[in-house]
Amino acid sequence: MIKDLNYYCQKFSDAGKKGLNVNRSKGVAPNKPILLLSIIQLIERGKITRNRIYLTPELIATFLKLWSDLEIHRDPKIGLPFFHLRGDKFWHFKANLGFEFLENPKSKVKVRTIKTLKEAVDYAYFDPELFTLLCEPTSRNQLTLTLIDSWFSDKPQQIRRSLSVDALEDLENQLITSGGKVYQRQEIDTKDEQTIIIRDGAFRKAVTSVYGYRCAFCELQVFNNQENIVDGAHIKPFSQFYDDRIVNGLSLCKNHHWAFDRFWFTINDDYTIELAETLHEDSPYSTPMSQFQGKRLWLPNNERYHPSAESLAWHRQSFLDKHAS
Ligand SMILES: [Zn+2]
Repeated sequence: MIKDLNYYCQKFSDAGKKGLNVNRSKGVAPNKPILLLSIIQLIERGKITRNRIYLTPELIATFLKLWSDLEIHRDPKIGLPFFHLRGDKFWHFKANLGFEFLENPKSKVKVRTIKTLKEAVDYAYFDPELFTLLCEPTSRNQLTLTLIDSWFSDKPQQIRRSLSVDALEDLENQLITSGGKVYQRQEIDTKDEQTIIIRDGAFRKAVTSVYGYRCAFCELQVFNNQENIVDGAHIKPFSQFYDDRIVNGLSLCKNHHWAFDRFWFTINDDYTIELAETLHEDSPYSTPMSQFQGKRLWLPNNERYHPSAESLAWHRQSFLDKHAS
């Protein structure tokens, strides 16, 4: 069997046992074609450059947008196709430690929620032959057309329109334009894990973007392909306050995010840094935290995005409570 473009076009098609194996118990379940189209879009946009498919906010947002734009009357659950594509033989798992049995296609264990998939699976990957074809524009287009013709022949325009928008970037831009919002508790409790991951991903991207992907504490900025080293941190924790406004955010590198969440330092109203007096540090190769005492945070030019006095006051009070003795 030659694993060439024709072979994979057939695997993506609606050709019964030789095609994509979809659940037809209640009509055709389009989970797998939608997941494949979503991944193909991220490859096309340069968001996926290696044969390692993670359940990222980008992938989930693209999947949900396509699902909603195609007006499919079922609940979208990306975990189902992410797991069951394994049965189509061109999709494999790199399992986390302790879950290696999932790498065996004959394993009967089912892992289908995002939470359990993230726990058990590091990433999924295609046959190397297929990933090469997906990276090459002409064969990628052919595989995309096969998916559309086989599964959505009545909706080609809707698919093209939906795929022309970067779903997560769109949410991020909306957040930057609106400044974000404070959610009601009920709104959050009723959302499913997919929506929570996307909301969180869009917040982190929006906050780090307005800070130019730089740490507000130490000004570190590092990029590596699509990744960067800063987090969009909540000043007042989201789990307590549901406050997803950019003024409740700070762009911080991993070290300073961790230290901020544990109140090792706080921020004064004039945006100067206040360090805990109890820190002991030895930092022979980088600027020690102690040298940032009294330094002003690095902030976006647009004052509209500067941390709110209210959020900083909450953090400062928690800092004082923690260090009171
Ligand atoms: Zn930093």
